[in-house]
Amino acid sequence: MIRTRFAPSPTGFLHVGGARTALFSWAYARRHSGRFILRIEDTDVARSTPEALQAILDGMHWLGLDYDEGPYYQTQRLDRYRSVTEQMLAAGTAYRCYTTPDELERLREEQRAEGLKPRYDGRWRPEPGKILPSPPPGVAPVIRFRNPADGIVAWDDLVKGRIEIANRELDDLVIARPDGTPTYNFCVVVDDWDMGISHVIRGDDHVNNTPRQINILAALGADVPQYAHLSMILGDDGQKLSKRHGAVSVMQYDDEGYLPEALLNYLARLGWSHGDAEVFSMAQFCEWFDLDHITASAAQFNSDKLNWLNAHYLRQADARRLARLVGKRLAARGVTADDRAIEAIVDLYKERVSNLNELADAAELVYIEFHPRQELLARHLAPETLAALNDFAAHLPDVAWEAQAIGTLIRETIARHGLKMPKLAMPLRILLTGLEQTPSVDALIAAFPRELVLRRLAAAWSGQPPR
Ligand code: GLU
Repeated sequence: MIRTRFAPSPTGFLHVGGARTALFSWAYARRHSGRFILRIEDTDVARSTPEALQAILDGMHWLGLDYDEGPYYQTQRLDRYRSVTEQMLAAGTAYRCYTTPDELERLREEQRAEGLKPRYDGRWRPEPGKILPSPPPGVAPVIRFRNPADGIVAWDDLVKGRIEIANRELDDLVIARPDGTPTYNFCVVVDDWDMGISHVIRGDDHVNNTPRQINILAALGADVPQYAHLSMILGDDGQKLSKRHGAVSVMQYDDEGYLPEALLNYLARLGWSHGDAEVFSMAQFCEWFDLDHITASAAQFNSDKLNWLNAHYLRQADARRLARLVGKRLAARGVTADDRAIEAIVDLYKERVSNLNELADAAELVYIEFHPRQELLARHLAPETLAALNDFAAHLPDVAWEAQAIGTLIRETIARHGLKMPKLAMPLRILLTGLEQTPSVDALIAAFPRELVLRRLAAAWSGQPPR
């Protein structure tokens, strides 16, 4: 049974890197009909916030990364960690260390002075035949893992290949603080064990933790999962992805008008490939996804490609769904509009925009009163045009309200008045939208409510701005 997990710390938003880790873990479980678990690593109470937790849950929900188990919260499992610590003390794989922070600092200074790498010297580590000092009164001990002294710890990383570390490079990790609270690496180990995780897919900033975690798992007699460490994501400029790159929180992509399927498709290709396939659904991704085709080198973010994918998915999207999403955006701008009315505009504009906000801008043209710029009106409203507009408007109440019939009416009108198409189309565009560039004017008119078109056209000859 494949069991994967996503284990964010709620100390910040769900960012692009985290979302990709979640996506790969999720897809791997889905690919193998396994289980995907969400675990919240919230033991760093000082840095964890409810807002960050909510942002992570919102991000997962928005992306549709559904989990089969969880969210589990580490802060609700403290008793379990404590009992595993007791178990390890009893088994001799962990021990109490009474070295005070001051002593440790002195030790480090001495080691540095001798040109050595600072590390705990094992003074409280039990060894056969070694006589330990008696515990100093009033000092609350930490608990340290008794790391194997010799040999190597190794694993075949499913992305990076074989990694080996000599045990003598690893000092005895603190697994519980003086107040009894467990430390980060220890919680991860107990959880991965208890939750039966088969594959740990996570960012390669955790590679250094892995040998310690494997050693602790081995000391517990637990199965060691397989590890896949994903390389980092670089920004457009080749630098480490950071706040400087603008959208770091996944929900910011929502704000900026990206569709979740566009971001998911984009993230899927960040460091993974299937031939030269660029555009694919998540169902397809879950059929294809494997760990063999993840690149060990860093992936570089490419905003142009993300925008291109977003435009693609906007074109594909169902108009009713887009209308609902645009309606929400309009509501946030204080514009109330009926979703069904927005649908016509969405259909007309979805091929021409690259995000939902631009679509909302287009829909807003219908719902916000505006004044066409005087200079545009002056430039495009010659007397012969006014006569043609008047004629056109007079026929509007009776025309069938669809692009083709309206197009016929436009052509008949210009023929009657001996005008070229732009002479009529341009003032229509300006009166209806205030803009010189719009989709084809017959379709534009058909997408607007009839009364609104009549009202806005009236501005041309009444000299009044449209109401
Ligand atoms: N909580 C860790 C983080 O947010 C992830 C730990 C793990 O995946 O093992 O970076």
